[in-house]
Amino acid sequence: PLVLGIETSCDETGVGIVRGRTLLADAVASSVEEHARFGGVVPEVASRAHLEAMVPTLERAAETAGVRLDEVDAIAVTSGPGLAGTLLVGVAAAKALAIGLGKPLYGVNHLASHVAVDQLEHGPLPDPCLALLVSGGHSSLLRVEDVTSTVEPLGSTIDDAAGEAFDKVARLLGLPFPGGPHIDRAARSGSSVAIDFPRGLTSRRDLERHRFDFSFSGLKTAVARWVEARERAGEPVPVEDVAASFQEAVCDVLVRKALDAAQDQGVEDLLIGGGVAANSRLRAMAEERAAKIGVQVRVPRPGLCTDNGAMVAALGSEMVARGRTPSHLDLPADSSQPVTQVLV
Ligand code: ATP
Ligand code: MG
Ligand code: FE
Repeated sequence: PLVLGIETSCDETGVGIVRGRTLLADAVASSVEEHARFGGVVPEVASRAHLEAMVPTLERAAETAGVRLDEVDAIAVTSGPGLAGTLLVGVAAAKALAIGLGKPLYGVNHLASHVAVDQLEHGPLPDPCLALLVSGGHSSLLRVEDVTSTVEPLGSTIDDAAGEAFDKVARLLGLPFPGGPHIDRAARSGSSVAIDFPRGLTSRRDLERHRFDFSFSGLKTAVARWVEARERAGEPVPVEDVAASFQEAVCDVLVRKALDAAQDQGVEDLLIGGGVAANSRLRAMAEERAAKIGVQVRVPRPGLCTDNGAMVAALGSEMVARGRTPSHLDLPADSSQPVTQVLV
């Protein structure tokens, strides 16, 4: 099927077009620069930016794909989770298209889309597979039985998301927002063993109750204390070493728990998705450690890890292929849509 996907859950206006599992277009407009000086996404500003960017981004996607909008078989849209006001813009646009073109509409889960997008690069997802979903707002281990219907959380963060930790630590190191890519870059010229930062929820006691859960707020506080102590002593802060050591601590816990879950669940494929999956150290560490225990790692290319429309089209296309019932045209936007609710 030829499927168009619309994503507006945060600050990226994404329109993707796929045919089956082939990516034809992935147009993204971001309002990130408008938020940078606030150190975080301002919902009202992002919503207005989506409204302005929507039609030009739709046109750009159609042109790149070389298709007319009336040729698509279905429209897919992120119905949640995300910012309530920004989701509404995408859902309203998708409804308008579905009505205007007389095509079925699928309201899909943003987190499941972060998983489904990998099919555009590496083919059908093995059933079942384990997914490590690490993004700006979420960090979870998921058992994915069928990405169009059955996604079961095994564990998730009990405080900050991994991406949030990257963004907060970047901020205290004086790096721009969003900080993930800047930490990634700074870490390349630093030492990952310079500072021994804590690995959250990995003590024997914590593992009893939180084997597959994450915690990053203690790590963030440890980094803040370390930096403050240096500043108080009037010594320069070795930004590259702090970045590399912090990044190592995050990746170590993510990979350790993901591989433990893969073995526990008896699955041989680990998929990593969400914005933090773009991290170069996470990708390398996962590959290296997984190879030792015979687990295959699948990670989409960095541009498909961060928010985009192709991921929504990819999940929509799978919905059509598996004959799922389309959403009602009165479908709501649900800012806290649970990961278990893949299709609305
Ligand atoms: P969610 O998917 O939970 O709703 P979101 O959509 O805002 O959140 P994504 O776009 O999936 O999040 O991911 C954005 C996050 O990814 C940001 O926190 C950003 O810092 C982080 N990120 C992006 N690139 C990298 C990188 N190379 N290394 C580490 N983190 C990164
Ligand atoms: Mg973003
Ligand atoms: Fe996301």
